[in-house]
Amino acid sequence: MAIVICITNQKGGVGKTTTAVNLGYYLAKDRYRTLIVDIDPQGNATSGLGIDKSSLNSGMVEVMLGSTTLEKAILKTKYKHLDILPTTPELANTEVELVSKKNRFSILKNALARIADHYDYIIIDSPPSLSLLTVNGMIASNYLLLPVQTEFYALEGVAQLLESMKLVRKAMNPRLQLLGVLATMYDKRTSLSAQVLAEIRKYFKDRTFDTTIPRNVRIAEAPSHGAPVGEYDKFSKGARAYKELAHEVELRTRGGKK
Ligand code: ATP
Ligand code: MG
Repeated sequence: MAIVICITNQKGGVGKTTTAVNLGYYLAKDRYRTLIVDIDPQGNATSGLGIDKSSLNSGMVEVMLGSTTLEKAILKTKYKHLDILPTTPELANTEVELVSKKNRFSILKNALARIADHYDYIIIDSPPSLSLLTVNGMIASNYLLLPVQTEFYALEGVAQLLESMKLVRKAMNPRLQLLGVLATMYDKRTSLSAQVLAEIRKYFKDRTFDTTIPRNVRIAEAPSHGAPVGEYDKFSKGARAYKELAHEVELRTRGGKK
């Protein structure tokens, strides 16, 4: 049975997609069968894994509308054990069409249930909003992973997100837990980064991952090569940090056991 992790923060540009792609990559490197599910109409996880969005026949949109099955829409990536359910910009319009559907909150959950045995991990990359798509992601998941950028206003909106998590837990998905809070774009040269990290640790205590993701230019360059940073420059600080994060996630979700 796959462990489903939704990477979410309604704040934009905090490292959700970067974390989905690179965490997924290293889980797959550790030989866990991993599926990345792109539910963001921006499709950054899709292109970040080297998939040309304009060439796609089907993806998340068709799955949500029920015109294709998940099995048909899933693609293999270039990397062993790593698959992706891609998306296209039309997903944004799909959301409007879904509003009147009776089971609109659990479409993703129902779709993933069919393939849960084929994977060890399913990583959902969500859009920067608390939209119907994001709620679908939360309802389909065992865990939330919350990336927080170590910048000013980092924790803005986090209280609202935790409130949504509570609501989802109460109404639709009692098993949902916070897997951890990940400090991203950490710059050890600035005292602001250290201050924000201290604030995150104070607030979330041991739910904060020990791993922090440094601000690292190799991480930012990798998507333009359609590759995870571990392929683009595996010795970079950024790559090493995401490898370490994968180990921490394995430990938190399986006690490190296969
Ligand atoms: P959105 O809310 O738009 O979906 P996001 O939360 O998914 O954004 P990303 O796309 O992962 O955020 O990251 C935003 C930008 O910052 C990207 O250009 C990415 O390459 C860059 N970036 C992410 N993490 C790092 C890092 N650790 N060091 C340097 N650049 C980074
Ligand atoms: Mg993103």
